[in-house]
Amino acid sequence: MKIGVVQLIGAGPGDPELITVKGLRGLEQADVVVHDRLVSRRLLELAPPTTRRIDVGKTPGMHRWSQRRINTLLVAEARRGRRVVRLKGGDPFVFGRGGEECEALVKAGIPFEVVPGVSSAVAAAAYAGIPVTHRNHTSAFAVVTGHSSNELDDLDWEALSRVGTLVVLMGLGGLRRIVQTLRAIGRAADTPVAIVSNATMAEQRSVRGTLADIVIKARYLSTPATIVVGDVVALGDRLSWFVPRRMAPNGARRTERGATRQADDVA
Ligand code: SAH
Repeated sequence: MKIGVVQLIGAGPGDPELITVKGLRGLEQADVVVHDRLVSRRLLELAPPTTRRIDVGKTPGMHRWSQRRINTLLVAEARRGRRVVRLKGGDPFVFGRGGEECEALVKAGIPFEVVPGVSSAVAAAAYAGIPVTHRNHTSAFAVVTGHSSNELDDLDWEALSRVGTLVVLMGLGGLRRIVQTLRAIGRAADTPVAIVSNATMAEQRSVRGTLADIVIKARYLSTPATIVVGDVVALGDRLSWFVPRRMAPNGARRTERGATRQADDVA
């Protein structure tokens, strides 16, 4: 039997329209879609009705599928000759463990393709009116994970302290610790910080503050959330443009995700 192919497709940050044209074409031709939890239902509906959809997503705290099991699934489906789409939130290679999946595919001799996606690292900022770089403020930005204390400790904070804009993914649960670390490396208490939750979606909410008060201001935000630190955050005052539509077209209120703090969505 002819061997299938796996396409790792970035679904974008949330709004289904933010998938790429190439990603959408892949989805429309898929035999099987293996997707994460954060991927929009509306996007999944764009695959043909006969396409099998497999949710391997991890609810925070409940790891339903191990990475190894996901890798095995991708290989097995491709060996059956299927066109497999591995649909991942944002960009597949930004904290998405896409690299590990590609390694497994190479090892098994399965052909694959990567379709980059719009990462929440830049999209969450953009949807809060924050350009991650700006000629008058900074020409560099760094994207880090704030998921665990270990990961935070492993980062080269000395080097990061010299980067103008810092974007932290998976950091809401560890916000206090992140703020402490930034203060310890010399970032001033009045350094602007923004946190954008559910970016690009009807449920988007964002708060802006400083390293001194962001922990308090963020207390009602829910995950997924992206933290942006640096002078560019202040531009959001003037450049904020996105008005989340909380009402469905028929006037019914959309179900909002709970305002209770969940663990950060991890890739
Ligand atoms: N590959 C993804 C990131 C996976 S890590 C990407 O490129 O976007 C998951 C983290 O991404 C979440 O914990 C959160 O920090 C961020 N994230 C994902 N979707 C988001 C959204 N709609 N709004 C804000 N942050 C989001």
